[in-house]
Amino acid sequence: MYYYSTRDKNREHRLTASEAILKGLAPDGGLYVPSQFPQLDCSLSLDLPYGQFASKVLAPFFKDDELEDSLGDICTKAFDFPVVLNSLKDKTVLELFHGPTCAFKDFGARFLAFSMEELLRKNGKKLCILVATSGDTGGAVASAFYRRDNLSVKVLFPKGRVAQRQKKQLTCWGENVESFEVDGSFDDCQKMVKSAFVDKRYMDGLSSANSINLGRLLPQMVYYVYASMLYQKEKGKKPVIIIPSGNVGNCTGAYWAMTMGAPIERVVLAVNANRTIPDYLSCGKYEPRSSVRTLANAMDVGAPSNMERLFSLYPDFDSVRAHLSAWSVSDDEIRQTIREEYEEDGYVMCPHTACGEFVRRTQFADFDNIMLVSTAHPAKFDTVVEPLIGTEVPLPPALTDLLDKPNSWKDISTDYNELFL
Ligand SMILES: *Cc1c(COP(=O)(O)O)cnc(C)c1O
Repeated sequence: MYYYSTRDKNREHRLTASEAILKGLAPDGGLYVPSQFPQLDCSLSLDLPYGQFASKVLAPFFKDDELEDSLGDICTKAFDFPVVLNSLKDKTVLELFHGPTCAFKDFGARFLAFSMEELLRKNGKKLCILVATSGDTGGAVASAFYRRDNLSVKVLFPKGRVAQRQKKQLTCWGENVESFEVDGSFDDCQKMVKSAFVDKRYMDGLSSANSINLGRLLPQMVYYVYASMLYQKEKGKKPVIIIPSGNVGNCTGAYWAMTMGAPIERVVLAVNANRTIPDYLSCGKYEPRSSVRTLANAMDVGAPSNMERLFSLYPDFDSVRAHLSAWSVSDDEIRQTIREEYEEDGYVMCPHTACGEFVRRTQFADFDNIMLVSTAHPAKFDTVVEPLIGTEVPLPPALTDLLDKPNSWKDISTDYNELFL
Protein backbone atom coordinates (compact mmCIF):
# COMPACT_ATOMS: atom_id res chain seq x y z
CA MET A 1 0.00 0.00 0.00
CA TYR A 2 1.25 3.45 -0.87
CA TYR A 3 -0.29 6.90 -1.36
CA TYR A 4 0.07 9.34 -4.21
CA SER A 5 -1.20 12.82 -5.02
CA THR A 6 -4.39 13.22 -7.07
CA ARG A 7 -2.29 15.42 -9.42
CA ASP A 8 0.51 12.89 -9.86
CA LYS A 9 -1.10 11.00 -12.77
CA ASN A 10 1.85 8.65 -13.33
CA ARG A 11 2.17 7.92 -9.64
CA GLU A 12 5.81 8.96 -9.58
CA HIS A 13 5.98 10.08 -5.94
CA ARG A 14 4.89 7.32 -3.59
CA LEU A 15 4.43 7.94 0.14
CA THR A 16 3.59 5.79 3.13
CA ALA A 17 0.47 6.61 5.15
CA SER A 18 2.60 8.23 7.88
CA GLU A 19 4.43 10.43 5.40
CA ALA A 20 1.13 11.52 3.86
CA ILE A 21 -0.32 12.28 7.30
CA LEU A 22 2.65 14.46 8.28
CA LYS A 23 2.63 16.29 4.92
CA GLY A 24 -1.11 17.11 4.79
CA LEU A 25 -1.35 18.68 1.35
CA ALA A 26 0.91 17.26 -1.40
CA PRO A 27 3.66 19.63 -2.67
CA ASP A 28 1.94 19.73 -6.11
CA GLY A 29 -1.26 21.01 -4.49
CA GLY A 30 -3.10 17.67 -4.80
CA LEU A 31 -4.54 15.39 -2.11
CA TYR A 32 -3.18 12.02 -1.07
CA VAL A 33 -5.22 8.94 -2.02
CA PRO A 34 -4.56 5.20 -1.52
CA SER A 35 -2.99 3.28 -4.41
CA GLN A 36 -5.66 0.58 -4.04
CA PHE A 37 -8.70 -0.34 -2.00
CA PRO A 38 -8.33 -3.78 -0.44
CA GLN A 39 -11.57 -5.75 -0.11
CA LEU A 40 -13.01 -5.99 3.40
CA ASP A 41 -11.93 -9.00 5.40
CA CYS A 42 -14.97 -11.35 5.51
CA SER A 43 -14.14 -12.41 9.07
CA LEU A 44 -14.62 -8.82 10.30
CA SER A 45 -16.91 -9.04 13.34
CA LEU A 46 -19.36 -6.45 14.64
CA ASP A 47 -18.93 -7.93 18.12
CA LEU A 48 -15.54 -6.27 18.47
CA PRO A 49 -15.27 -3.03 20.44
CA TYR A 50 -15.39 -0.17 17.89
CA GLY A 51 -11.70 0.73 18.38
CA GLN A 52 -10.60 -2.80 17.50
CA PHE A 53 -13.05 -2.95 14.60
CA ALA A 54 -11.51 0.28 13.26
CA SER A 55 -8.02 -1.07 13.62
CA LYS A 56 -8.94 -4.17 11.57
CA VAL A 57 -10.53 -2.10 8.79
CA LEU A 58 -7.53 0.25 8.69
CA ALA A 59 -4.80 -2.41 8.97
CA PRO A 60 -4.27 -2.89 5.20
CA PHE A 61 -3.94 0.90 4.78
CA PHE A 62 -1.03 0.90 7.25
CA LYS A 63 0.70 -2.25 6.07
CA ASP A 64 4.49 -1.90 6.51
CA ASP A 65 3.94 1.63 7.77
CA GLU A 66 5.71 3.21 10.73
CA LEU A 67 2.37 3.21 12.57
CA GLU A 68 1.49 -0.43 11.79
CA ASP A 69 2.26 -1.73 15.28
CA SER A 70 0.62 1.16 17.13
CA LEU A 71 -2.57 1.21 15.04
CA GLY A 72 -4.64 -0.79 17.54
CA ASP A 73 -3.58 1.44 20.40
CA ILE A 74 -4.23 4.64 18.41
CA CYS A 75 -7.74 3.47 17.43
CA THR A 76 -8.62 2.43 20.99
CA LYS A 77 -7.57 5.82 22.35
CA ALA A 78 -9.12 7.86 19.51
CA PHE A 79 -12.52 6.13 19.34
CA ASP A 80 -13.55 6.01 23.00
CA PHE A 81 -17.17 7.08 22.29
CA PRO A 82 -20.05 5.24 20.61
CA VAL A 83 -21.25 5.18 16.98
CA VAL A 84 -25.04 5.16 17.28
CA LEU A 85 -27.64 3.85 14.81
CA ASN A 86 -30.98 5.30 15.89
CA SER A 87 -34.02 3.60 14.29
CA LEU A 88 -36.86 6.08 13.75
CA LYS A 89 -40.14 5.24 12.04
CA ASP A 90 -39.21 6.42 8.55
CA LYS A 91 -35.41 6.14 8.58
CA THR A 92 -32.35 5.14 10.55
CA VAL A 93 -30.19 8.01 11.79
CA LEU A 94 -26.45 7.41 11.99
CA GLU A 95 -25.53 9.71 14.87
CA LEU A 96 -21.88 10.71 14.57
CA PHE A 97 -22.05 13.33 17.35
CA HIS A 98 -21.30 11.34 20.50
CA GLY A 99 -17.65 12.42 20.70
CA PRO A 100 -16.13 15.10 22.96
CA THR A 101 -17.17 18.10 20.81
CA CYS A 102 -20.44 16.58 19.57
CA ALA A 103 -19.68 16.62 15.83
CA PHE A 104 -18.45 13.96 13.41
CA LYS A 105 -15.13 15.82 13.09
CA ASP A 106 -14.09 14.26 16.42
CA PHE A 107 -13.40 10.94 14.60
CA GLY A 108 -10.91 12.41 12.15
CA ALA A 109 -9.33 14.96 14.49
CA ARG A 110 -8.72 12.41 17.26
CA PHE A 111 -7.25 9.78 14.94
CA LEU A 112 -4.96 12.42 13.43
CA ALA A 113 -3.85 13.73 16.85
CA PHE A 114 -2.97 10.30 18.27
CA SER A 115 -1.22 9.31 15.01
CA MET A 116 0.87 12.49 14.98
CA GLU A 117 1.72 12.10 18.68
CA GLU A 118 3.04 8.59 18.00
CA LEU A 119 5.06 9.70 14.95
CA LEU A 120 6.63 12.61 16.85
CA ARG A 121 7.48 10.36 19.79
CA LYS A 122 9.39 8.16 17.31
CA ASN A 123 11.25 10.93 15.48
CA GLY A 124 11.83 13.25 18.47
CA LYS A 125 10.36 16.34 16.79
CA LYS A 126 7.76 18.90 17.89
CA LEU A 127 4.96 20.39 15.81
CA CYS A 128 2.61 23.32 16.13
CA ILE A 129 -0.79 22.95 14.45
CA LEU A 130 -2.28 26.16 13.05
CA VAL A 131 -6.01 26.08 12.48
CA ALA A 132 -8.29 28.83 11.19
CA THR A 133 -11.90 28.10 12.00
CA SER A 134 -15.38 29.49 11.57
CA GLY A 135 -16.84 26.87 13.90
CA ASP A 136 -16.70 23.10 14.27
CA THR A 137 -13.23 22.30 12.97
CA GLY A 138 -11.37 24.42 15.52
CA GLY A 139 -13.21 22.90 18.46
CA ALA A 140 -12.66 19.31 17.34
CA VAL A 141 -8.97 19.94 16.60
CA ALA A 142 -8.36 21.80 19.89
CA SER A 143 -10.05 19.06 21.89
CA ALA A 144 -8.23 16.26 20.05
CA PHE A 145 -4.75 17.80 20.39
CA TYR A 146 -5.18 19.02 23.98
CA ARG A 147 -2.38 17.51 26.14
CA ARG A 148 -0.91 15.50 23.23
CA ASP A 149 2.87 15.30 23.72
CA ASN A 150 5.16 17.36 21.48
CA LEU A 151 2.17 19.03 19.85
CA SER A 152 0.73 22.47 20.35
CA VAL A 153 -2.22 24.21 18.69
CA LYS A 154 -2.98 27.79 17.75
CA VAL A 155 -6.66 28.32 16.93
CA LEU A 156 -7.64 31.48 15.00
CA PHE A 157 -11.24 32.61 14.82
CA PRO A 158 -12.85 35.80 13.46
CA LYS A 159 -14.12 38.35 15.99
CA GLY A 160 -17.89 38.43 16.32
CA ARG A 161 -18.47 35.71 13.70
CA VAL A 162 -18.69 32.53 15.77
CA ALA A 163 -21.67 31.56 17.91
CA GLN A 164 -21.35 32.02 21.68
CA ARG A 165 -21.21 28.29 22.39
CA GLN A 166 -18.73 27.75 19.59
CA LYS A 167 -16.49 30.48 21.02
CA LYS A 168 -16.55 28.79 24.41
CA GLN A 169 -15.45 25.52 22.81
CA LEU A 170 -12.58 27.29 21.07
CA THR A 171 -11.27 29.09 24.13
CA CYS A 172 -11.68 26.69 27.07
CA TRP A 173 -8.44 24.71 26.70
CA GLY A 174 -5.19 26.33 27.84
CA GLU A 175 -1.91 24.40 28.31
CA ASN A 176 -0.77 23.41 24.79
CA VAL A 177 -3.81 24.99 23.06
CA GLU A 178 -3.87 28.77 22.51
CA SER A 179 -6.81 30.70 21.04
CA PHE A 180 -6.67 33.95 19.08
CA GLU A 181 -9.60 36.21 18.33
CA VAL A 182 -8.67 37.97 15.11
CA ASP A 183 -9.97 41.43 14.33
CA GLY A 184 -11.01 40.38 10.82
CA SER A 185 -12.99 37.83 8.81
CA PHE A 186 -12.62 34.07 8.46
CA ASP A 187 -10.82 34.69 5.16
CA ASP A 188 -8.31 36.90 7.02
CA CYS A 189 -7.70 34.04 9.49
CA GLN A 190 -7.06 31.65 6.61
CA LYS A 191 -4.70 34.11 4.95
CA MET A 192 -2.71 34.48 8.19
CA VAL A 193 -2.30 30.70 8.42
CA LYS A 194 -1.20 30.51 4.80
CA SER A 195 1.32 33.34 5.28
CA ALA A 196 2.81 31.68 8.37
CA PHE A 197 3.20 28.38 6.47
CA VAL A 198 5.39 30.01 3.81
CA ASP A 199 7.41 32.22 6.20
CA LYS A 200 10.90 30.73 6.60
CA ARG A 201 11.09 31.88 10.24
CA TYR A 202 8.13 29.73 11.25
CA MET A 203 7.38 27.11 8.59
CA ASP A 204 9.56 24.23 9.79
CA GLY A 205 7.71 23.61 13.02
CA LEU A 206 4.22 24.10 11.61
CA SER A 207 1.59 21.67 10.40
CA SER A 208 -2.11 21.69 9.65
CA ALA A 209 -5.01 19.48 10.66
CA ASN A 210 -7.57 20.48 8.08
CA SER A 211 -10.05 18.19 6.44
CA ILE A 212 -7.87 17.32 3.47
CA ASN A 213 -5.38 15.45 5.68
CA LEU A 214 -5.38 11.72 4.93
CA GLY A 215 -5.37 11.09 8.69
CA ARG A 216 -8.83 12.61 8.92
CA LEU A 217 -10.21 10.81 5.85
CA LEU A 218 -9.29 7.22 6.71
CA PRO A 219 -11.21 7.06 10.03
CA GLN A 220 -14.27 8.54 8.28
CA MET A 221 -14.34 5.44 6.10
CA VAL A 222 -14.53 3.13 9.12
CA TYR A 223 -17.87 4.27 10.55
CA TYR A 224 -19.51 3.72 7.16
CA VAL A 225 -18.18 0.16 7.04
CA TYR A 226 -19.42 -0.42 10.58
CA ALA A 227 -22.84 1.26 10.17
CA SER A 228 -23.67 -0.40 6.85
CA MET A 229 -22.67 -3.85 8.12
CA LEU A 230 -24.77 -3.37 11.25
CA TYR A 231 -27.69 -2.08 9.18
CA GLN A 232 -27.54 -5.06 6.84
CA LYS A 233 -27.34 -7.48 9.74
CA GLU A 234 -30.35 -5.94 11.50
CA LYS A 235 -32.56 -5.09 8.52
CA GLY A 236 -31.42 -7.58 5.90
CA LYS A 237 -30.79 -4.92 3.23
CA LYS A 238 -28.24 -2.36 2.15
CA PRO A 239 -28.81 1.28 3.08
CA VAL A 240 -28.98 4.35 0.85
CA ILE A 241 -26.90 6.82 2.89
CA ILE A 242 -27.77 10.54 2.81
CA ILE A 243 -24.86 12.74 3.92
CA PRO A 244 -25.00 16.47 4.72
CA SER A 245 -21.90 17.76 2.90
CA GLY A 246 -19.65 20.79 2.50
CA ASN A 247 -16.02 20.00 1.76
CA VAL A 248 -17.18 16.42 0.91
CA GLY A 249 -14.63 14.80 3.23
CA ASN A 250 -17.26 12.92 5.19
CA CYS A 251 -18.91 11.47 2.07
CA THR A 252 -15.52 10.58 0.56
CA GLY A 253 -15.21 8.21 3.53
CA ALA A 254 -18.49 6.59 2.45
CA TYR A 255 -17.33 6.21 -1.17
CA TRP A 256 -14.08 4.64 -0.01
CA ALA A 257 -16.04 2.24 2.24
CA MET A 258 -18.28 1.31 -0.71
CA THR A 259 -15.23 0.74 -2.91
CA MET A 260 -13.89 -1.69 -0.28
CA GLY A 261 -17.11 -3.68 -0.53
CA ALA A 262 -19.12 -2.29 2.40
CA PRO A 263 -22.84 -3.10 1.94
CA ILE A 264 -24.00 0.34 0.78
CA GLU A 265 -26.60 0.66 -1.99
CA ARG A 266 -25.91 4.27 -2.82
CA VAL A 267 -24.51 7.52 -1.38
CA VAL A 268 -26.53 10.74 -1.68
CA LEU A 269 -25.27 14.25 -0.87
CA ALA A 270 -27.33 17.00 0.73
CA VAL A 271 -25.80 20.46 0.43
CA ASN A 272 -27.08 23.85 1.61
CA ALA A 273 -27.51 26.91 -0.65
CA ASN A 274 -23.93 26.40 -1.85
CA ARG A 275 -24.89 24.67 -5.10
CA THR A 276 -21.53 23.90 -6.73
CA ILE A 277 -22.03 20.11 -6.82
CA PRO A 278 -25.71 19.89 -7.88
CA ASP A 279 -25.01 22.48 -10.61
CA TYR A 280 -22.05 20.45 -11.83
CA LEU A 281 -24.12 17.26 -11.97
CA SER A 282 -26.83 18.95 -14.00
CA CYS A 283 -24.63 20.80 -16.52
CA GLY A 284 -21.36 18.81 -16.56
CA LYS A 285 -19.15 21.82 -15.90
CA TYR A 286 -17.40 21.99 -12.54
CA GLU A 287 -17.32 25.62 -11.36
CA PRO A 288 -16.05 26.28 -7.83
CA ARG A 289 -17.15 29.68 -6.50
CA SER A 290 -17.17 31.74 -3.30
CA SER A 291 -19.34 30.49 -0.49
CA VAL A 292 -22.61 31.97 0.72
CA ARG A 293 -23.58 32.05 4.39
CA THR A 294 -26.36 29.73 5.56
CA LEU A 295 -27.86 28.28 8.75
CA ALA A 296 -25.85 25.08 8.18
CA ASN A 297 -22.61 27.07 8.45
CA ALA A 298 -20.19 24.14 8.69
CA MET A 299 -21.24 23.34 5.10
CA ASP A 300 -20.74 26.86 3.71
CA VAL A 301 -18.30 25.75 1.02
CA GLY A 302 -18.31 26.92 -2.60
CA ALA A 303 -15.12 25.12 -3.63
CA PRO A 304 -15.29 21.68 -1.98
CA SER A 305 -11.67 20.66 -1.43
CA ASN A 306 -12.17 16.89 -1.43
CA MET A 307 -13.83 16.85 -4.90
CA GLU A 308 -10.38 16.02 -6.26
CA ARG A 309 -10.49 12.76 -4.36
CA LEU A 310 -13.91 11.88 -5.80
CA PHE A 311 -12.72 12.79 -9.31
CA SER A 312 -9.76 10.47 -8.86
CA LEU A 313 -12.12 7.64 -7.85
CA TYR A 314 -14.54 8.32 -10.75
CA PRO A 315 -12.41 9.82 -13.52
CA ASP A 316 -15.04 10.71 -16.16
CA PHE A 317 -18.33 12.57 -15.97
CA ASP A 318 -20.47 9.50 -16.73
CA SER A 319 -19.00 7.52 -13.86
CA VAL A 320 -19.26 10.53 -11.53
CA ARG A 321 -22.92 10.83 -12.47
CA ALA A 322 -23.51 7.14 -11.96
CA HIS A 323 -22.30 7.38 -8.35
CA LEU A 324 -23.06 10.91 -7.23
CA SER A 325 -26.36 12.61 -6.69
CA ALA A 326 -26.76 15.84 -4.77
CA TRP A 327 -29.54 18.23 -3.85
CA SER A 328 -29.37 21.77 -2.52
CA VAL A 329 -31.48 22.88 0.48
CA SER A 330 -32.36 26.49 1.32
CA ASP A 331 -32.41 28.08 4.78
CA ASP A 332 -36.23 28.16 4.72
CA GLU A 333 -36.32 24.46 3.94
CA ILE A 334 -33.88 23.81 6.81
CA ARG A 335 -36.13 25.69 9.25
CA GLN A 336 -39.25 23.92 7.99
CA THR A 337 -37.60 20.51 8.33
CA ILE A 338 -36.34 21.09 11.89
CA ARG A 339 -39.85 22.17 12.89
CA GLU A 340 -41.69 19.32 11.14
CA GLU A 341 -39.33 16.63 12.35
CA TYR A 342 -39.83 17.77 15.93
CA GLU A 343 -43.61 18.06 15.61
CA GLU A 344 -44.07 14.71 13.87
CA ASP A 345 -41.49 12.59 15.61
CA GLY A 346 -40.14 14.52 18.59
CA TYR A 347 -36.66 14.21 17.11
CA VAL A 348 -34.43 17.30 17.21
CA MET A 349 -31.96 17.86 14.37
CA CYS A 350 -29.11 20.31 13.84
CA PRO A 351 -29.37 22.51 10.70
CA HIS A 352 -26.85 20.32 8.80
CA THR A 353 -28.70 17.11 9.49
CA ALA A 354 -31.93 18.86 8.51
CA CYS A 355 -30.55 19.35 4.98
CA GLY A 356 -30.23 15.58 4.69
CA GLU A 357 -33.71 15.02 6.09
CA PHE A 358 -35.20 17.50 3.62
CA VAL A 359 -33.62 15.55 0.75
CA ARG A 360 -35.03 12.33 2.18
CA ARG A 361 -38.53 13.81 2.43
CA THR A 362 -38.53 15.27 -1.06
CA GLN A 363 -36.56 12.67 -3.06
CA PHE A 364 -36.66 9.39 -1.12
CA ALA A 365 -39.96 9.46 0.76
CA ASP A 366 -40.96 5.96 -0.44
CA PHE A 367 -37.67 4.27 0.39
CA ASP A 368 -37.53 1.91 3.35
CA ASN A 369 -33.75 1.67 3.49
CA ILE A 370 -32.61 5.22 4.23
CA MET A 371 -29.74 5.92 6.57
CA LEU A 372 -29.53 9.63 7.34
CA VAL A 373 -26.21 10.84 8.70
CA SER A 374 -26.42 13.26 11.61
CA THR A 375 -23.21 15.30 11.69
CA ALA A 376 -23.67 17.38 14.87
CA HIS A 377 -25.68 17.48 18.08
CA PRO A 378 -28.53 20.04 17.86
CA ALA A 379 -27.55 21.63 21.19
CA LYS A 380 -24.51 23.11 19.43
CA PHE A 381 -26.89 25.22 17.34
CA ASP A 382 -29.31 26.21 20.09
CA THR A 383 -29.85 29.75 18.73
CA VAL A 384 -31.17 28.33 15.44
CA VAL A 385 -32.97 25.25 16.71
CA GLU A 386 -34.66 26.35 19.96
CA PRO A 387 -36.83 29.16 18.53
CA LEU A 388 -38.08 26.74 15.84
CA ILE A 389 -39.16 23.98 18.18
CA GLY A 390 -40.17 26.28 21.04
CA THR A 391 -38.27 24.41 23.71
CA GLU A 392 -34.77 24.00 25.06
CA VAL A 393 -32.47 21.31 23.70
CA PRO A 394 -30.85 19.56 26.68
CA LEU A 395 -27.06 19.77 26.63
CA PRO A 396 -25.23 16.46 26.33
CA PRO A 397 -22.73 15.91 29.19
CA ALA A 398 -19.71 16.42 26.90
CA LEU A 399 -20.87 19.95 26.07
CA THR A 400 -21.81 20.83 29.66
CA ASP A 401 -18.27 19.97 30.77
CA LEU A 402 -16.72 22.14 28.07
CA LEU A 403 -19.01 25.09 28.65
CA ASP A 404 -18.22 25.08 32.39
CA LYS A 405 -14.49 25.50 31.90
CA PRO A 406 -12.86 28.94 32.23
CA ASN A 407 -12.06 30.67 28.94
CA SER A 408 -9.08 32.63 27.74
CA TRP A 409 -7.94 34.03 24.41
CA LYS A 410 -5.72 36.72 22.95
CA ASP A 411 -7.09 39.56 20.84
CA ILE A 412 -4.88 40.13 17.81
CA SER A 413 -4.86 42.05 14.54
CA THR A 414 -4.57 40.39 11.13
CA ASP A 415 -0.74 40.47 11.37
CA TYR A 416 0.26 36.82 11.66
CA ASN A 417 3.47 37.69 13.50
CA GLU A 418 1.33 38.30 16.57
CA LEU A 419 0.68 34.55 16.72
CA PHE A 420 4.31 33.97 17.61
CA LEU A 421 4.93 36.72 20.19
C1 LIG B 1 -17.81 19.84 8.73
C2 LIG B 1 -19.26 19.58 8.88
C3 LIG B 1 -20.06 19.16 7.79
C4 LIG B 1 -19.50 19.01 6.39
O1 LIG B 1 -18.63 17.92 6.28
P1 LIG B 1 -17.67 17.81 5.00
O2 LIG B 1 -16.75 16.70 5.29
O3 LIG B 1 -16.95 19.14 4.92
O4 LIG B 1 -18.52 17.56 3.81
C5 LIG B 1 -21.39 18.88 8.02
N1 LIG B 1 -21.94 19.05 9.24
C6 LIG B 1 -21.22 19.45 10.31
C7 LIG B 1 -21.90 19.62 11.61
C8 LIG B 1 -19.85 19.72 10.17
O5 LIG B 1 -19.15 20.14 11.23
